[in-house]
Amino acid sequence: MAEARRSRKPVKLFDASRLANPATAVLRAYDPGHDLPALRARFGSTIAELGSNENPMGPSPRALDAMRAALPDTFRYPDPRGLALKQALARRLNVEVARIALGNGSHELLMLLAQCFADPKHSIVYSQFGFAVFSIATAAVGARAVCVPALPRGHRTAPFGHDLVAMAKAVRGDTRIVYLANPNNPTGTWFGDAALEAFLRKVPREALVVVDEAYHEYVDAHGLTTALAFADRHPNLIVTRTFSKAYGLAGVRAGYLVADPGVVAVLERLRESFNVNMLALAAAEAALADTKWLAKSRAFNNREREWLRAELLARGYRCLPAQTNFLLCVLQRDAAGLEQRLFERGVIARPMGGYGLPHALRISVGSRAENRRLLRALEHYPAAGRATRPSPARGGRWPARPDRGT
Ligand SMILES: *Cc1c(COP(=O)(O)O)cnc(C)c1O
Repeated sequence: MAEARRSRKPVKLFDASRLANPATAVLRAYDPGHDLPALRARFGSTIAELGSNENPMGPSPRALDAMRAALPDTFRYPDPRGLALKQALARRLNVEVARIALGNGSHELLMLLAQCFADPKHSIVYSQFGFAVFSIATAAVGARAVCVPALPRGHRTAPFGHDLVAMAKAVRGDTRIVYLANPNNPTGTWFGDAALEAFLRKVPREALVVVDEAYHEYVDAHGLTTALAFADRHPNLIVTRTFSKAYGLAGVRAGYLVADPGVVAVLERLRESFNVNMLALAAAEAALADTKWLAKSRAFNNREREWLRAELLARGYRCLPAQTNFLLCVLQRDAAGLEQRLFERGVIARPMGGYGLPHALRISVGSRAENRRLLRALEHYPAAGRATRPSPARGGRWPARPDRGT
């Protein structure tokens, strides 16, 4: 009764933002682009989901088995130290357990680093077109953002990539963190070990250098291994990785970082006690052990990516070289029309307006069937040249794109 009476009252907006931490004023809620659960319910597997860099192969069967085996224990809290997973990672990476921290995805760790080490007195340096979480983490703690212009679009090896020389120059006495992504999302660009080593030599130890290696497992570029190679000489170096991409476990949320034990000890003070859940711990440990499956996942992605890139280039789309599980296609005009056309044909890609790249579309490497579907959706669509109006939905099968912020 009381419930019913209450619900009839006119809703008065409670202006909570007036009460909120000022840092939240510059932040916005995550925009997934589309209501994916609703689209899945309506169209099922006929959608090609190429918007979120997920692994079309799914997780290792051993990770699925490990999660099933862990299900009956889920009335207990997970191991707050995640020791079994950390030990497995320590063995694999040949580092001590004390150098590893686990996160609910690497996103959480990127945020936690800013929360633990930076405040409004500090600056945080990252690149234009760098991974979106870098600017969010900076804003969340009220630190001063130093966004360094990216390499020019005509750059030979890394168009729109990180300009490490300019970034080193942007580091000041008040700089606490430099965020680098290698390879970077959304550009797919990368830099080699030598460039990183030169960068590390220029940066004082008071600035933590965070190298986000979310796509590390896919890398096969000449001259690029991992930032971990420099960890011994640079205690201010931190490397983050994830189980979301090559391991195909985006939905369970597991990531890790490797850093100096002193850095890890600080992070542990603020880390939520049970941040990585029991199923994620079990899945990640099993996935790590299944090296054959990982090799298959990587081989499939890299082969398929190069095939897809060649197909897109042949159709006149400028796709940047990539070491990731996605391609960044740069058009001569705003990409909204292309995104809409793909959406009408059941292919979801990620527009890049929010990154300041309205002419670009990020397309994840899907299964062969999904990638073929993407190419079919592009038939008779002029890749370059004059702007065309997006064609109307055919047969009304696909709904108009839902409205969104940016
Ligand atoms: C996908 C991605 C991540 C991983 O995020 P999780 O929180 O681990 O799922 C981190 N960094 C970059 C650059 C990414 O593209």
